[in-house]
Amino acid sequence: HSYIDAKLSLIIMRLILEKQMFAALVLKQVEKKTLASIEQLDESQLPEGEVLVAVDYSSLNYKDGLAITGKGKIVRHFPMVPGIDLAGSVLASDDARYQPGDAVVLTGWGVGENHWGGMAQKAKLKADWLVPLPQGLSAKKAMMVGTAGFTAMLCVQALIDAEIKPEHGTILVTGASGGVGSVAVSLLAQLGYSVAAVTGRVQQNGPLLEKLGASQIIDRSEFEQAARPLEKQLWAGAIDTVGSKILAKVLAQMDYNSAVAACGLVGGFDLPTTVMPFILRNVRLQGIDSVNCPSAKRIAAWEQLAKLLPASYFEQACTEISLSQAPKYAENITNGQTTGRVVIKL
Ligand code: NDP
Repeated sequence: HSYIDAKLSLIIMRLILEKQMFAALVLKQVEKKTLASIEQLDESQLPEGEVLVAVDYSSLNYKDGLAITGKGKIVRHFPMVPGIDLAGSVLASDDARYQPGDAVVLTGWGVGENHWGGMAQKAKLKADWLVPLPQGLSAKKAMMVGTAGFTAMLCVQALIDAEIKPEHGTILVTGASGGVGSVAVSLLAQLGYSVAAVTGRVQQNGPLLEKLGASQIIDRSEFEQAARPLEKQLWAGAIDTVGSKILAKVLAQMDYNSAVAACGLVGGFDLPTTVMPFILRNVRLQGIDSVNCPSAKRIAAWEQLAKLLPASYFEQACTEISLSQAPKYAENITNGQTTGRVVIKL
């Protein structure tokens, strides 16, 4: 009997364990190359954290693309589960602020870089990193927003804080058909600003950008020639996701007393500019970081996103993929080939 009992309890234990197994995209480094594969993990393999979350959706950001392909030094240690964003519901919590069943969203804080991230069906996280899902957003919608959309909101807020008002003139958005850019166009239009969108894909994405609210579509090539220190004043504000010579051109074209929110580097991390826009036109350049954004500002930004983004944004600017498609889309996003946001269903 004791033999049968032991065998039975083994089978039961295995069944329990199998029930707890979940799929994750795991990055490993072999001979300095990053390899991505789907693995079955169990909860005991998850890192430390007060809250266990069942992830419903993650999303693909430019940074995730760099991490998964290994094209950028994003991941600090391996093995790593990528995914800087996730949304889902709490399964278990050691923190009084969260109860099982609560809907949560997380972006940044180094998740998917130094701590296992959103591209897994379960994640264990610090309670301080979580934001309660605002009313009006589902897990999927929150991931259509994701780090990119959250960053777009921080950029828009920076222009508002700089007292740039719709009546002052047009706001320029670079990298407009990307994740950050497309949300920025939509948010600015909702707030009554007139928006000019700079894109390298006028034919393909011009109509979408117009639907999101851009009133002017400008070919990126117009921003690629070297800038003179000061050019004709055209923009009351700007949101730049590109950096390098495109940001230099933008700065040279800013109105007197205007402001630029700069968050990205898809065009390069250098900035070949002069001090002229700053000292002769009172132009302000505001850097934007979403990763370590303090909690109160985060919660406010998510509330604003839930309030401002129109239904049309969620209908137009999103592609849904499975975990197994993530490596291919990671390659695409690093080549500037995705449009709007890419969400991953877990
Ligand atoms: P996407 O790849 O979705 O969008 C970037 C867009 O930029 C592309 O869609 C493309 O738009 C344009 N683009 C691509 N390559 C080039 C190029 N070589 N030169 C000029 N334009 C180019 O990325 P995200 O929107 O997710 O991120 C945008 C940037 O913002 C990234 O650098 C990212 O790292 C950064 N970021 C920073 C954050 C922060 O906290 N500071 C947070 C989130 C993102 P089009 O075809 O319309 O020109």
